[in-house]
Amino acid sequence: MMILYIILFVIIFVSLVYLLGQYTFWLPHRSWNIPRILMLHQVTAAEPASGMNIQPKKFEQLLQLLQKKNIKTLTMSEWMEYSQSQKSSHQKVVALTFDDGFLDNYTDAFPLLEKYQAKATIFLSPKLDAIAKMQPEHLTIMSKSGLIEFGAHTMTHPNLNNISDEQAIQEIRASKQWVEEQIGYCHHFAYPFGRFSAKHMDMVKAAGFLSAVSTKKSIQSLSAENQYCLPRISVSGKMNMMQLKIAIRVGRYRL
Ligand SMILES: [Zn+2]
Repeated sequence: MMILYIILFVIIFVSLVYLLGQYTFWLPHRSWNIPRILMLHQVTAAEPASGMNIQPKKFEQLLQLLQKKNIKTLTMSEWMEYSQSQKSSHQKVVALTFDDGFLDNYTDAFPLLEKYQAKATIFLSPKLDAIAKMQPEHLTIMSKSGLIEFGAHTMTHPNLNNISDEQAIQEIRASKQWVEEQIGYCHHFAYPFGRFSAKHMDMVKAAGFLSAVSTKKSIQSLSAENQYCLPRISVSGKMNMMQLKIAIRVGRYRL
């Protein structure tokens, strides 16, 4: 009999630890005085849900959730302006960001962003050849909608820590110039793979970017320290709505 109790106890204990790891509702709630930045990549039904890809249906549920909770979507430039305005606002604010410039951002995400009039920022890597990318005509259409801001994500998407300083400067500056040539501006940067060092933050700043986003999963107010390494909330295609709500509240949905 005793052994049964022990087995039962172990099963309950392990399940509890698993659930607390998968649903981090117990982490401290971050005040809505701090605007959020969400990180996404692909939005397509053609590939399975993963850390990189969210199904369009679930992306629409995210947009519906933001709308229902009166959470305003801003572009990164608006997010910066909002963060620097010092106004204590009762507004809830998020910046939706997409890395890499996948074609599905135009074919699948953009129609939904238009449907809900939600704003987003897309960081482009124009020579990342491994993916189906958006073409300049797509960028023009999205830019004209007033909903989409474009930023840079290097030319070829290297791990900046694995290339020389000269190459890193070239990757950062050339991608800014490329986006400027397409759209007319480029103010924000995202580090490929979220990999970078302090020197890369200096390079991004020196290139004239106003901010840079990382893949560190948390919610922080804008400061001089994090302006070039802003954390984001990672949106995985595998998370359920409960986990999505938790992530937006505390910064991450699992440990
Ligand atoms: Zn990337």
